[in-house]
Amino acid sequence: MQRYFIDESQWANEKVTITEDAHHIIRVMRYEVGDKIICVHPDGKAAECEIIELDDGGKTVLATVKSWLESDSELPVEVTILQSLPKGSKLELIIQKGTELGATQFVLFESDRSLVKWNRKKRDNRLQRYQKIAKEASEQSGRTIIPEIIYIDKVEPYIKDDSLTNSLKILAYEEEAKRSEHTSLYSELSKIQEHNHILIAIGPEGGFSPEEVNLFSDHNFTPVRLGKRILRTETASLYALASISYHLEEMK
Ligand code: SAH
Repeated sequence: MQRYFIDESQWANEKVTITEDAHHIIRVMRYEVGDKIICVHPDGKAAECEIIELDDGGKTVLATVKSWLESDSELPVEVTILQSLPKGSKLELIIQKGTELGATQFVLFESDRSLVKWNRKKRDNRLQRYQKIAKEASEQSGRTIIPEIIYIDKVEPYIKDDSLTNSLKILAYEEEAKRSEHTSLYSELSKIQEHNHILIAIGPEGGFSPEEVNLFSDHNFTPVRLGKRILRTETASLYALASISYHLEEMK
């Protein structure tokens, strides 16, 4: 069943007024009165709803809640991908696939060796586009939340913040892949009981600078390898997310 994320203001007394996705419902899916869709409230609860009214102009759809669903499609811990800005369209891939794999949040920043720079105008437009990609990927993959996408000017104040005291902090570091005495993602994920959030930093095409590696280490990030091979920046976060799912959801 098609899934739509609906803003809080559109819910009233078990009725849902859909505007943003009305075009998709009426023109793309060609749904009619009596058809069922899933509407997801911003608090993460999802309901099976029946369409009770479609307006001719294709601008509004009214649906009524039939039943609330027991949904359990989120990872057991929140995962933030702290992603250095990569070149070209790689972020679209990272956000789309990372959303399918269960990321809770993407925090983007320009790292020392990032080859692109975002000015303010570019940033706002891009963030809007990425948020739309995340929404569509969440709907498609049956998520109950849409990952948040934010941009930070500087990484240091972000990783220093007290709100991250209880986070498991991981630095994906390709140099670990070259050491026989490496730290594995497995050994870090095995400590998850003590944490409620995983924060994983991924470098750009040229990797992190030595200063950045020191900065992350100073703030309790553990450098880990993601397998023995050197991955492209867009592969690294997907490897990490798939491993987190396997470790915490499937290895039971
Ligand atoms: N230019 C570097 C590779 C950078 S890969 C080199 O040739 O050595 C881009 C980013 O992906 C890295 O900064 C790291 O965060 C992540 N990454 C890639 N392969 C990895 C691996 N095997 N283990 C851990 N992190 C990895």
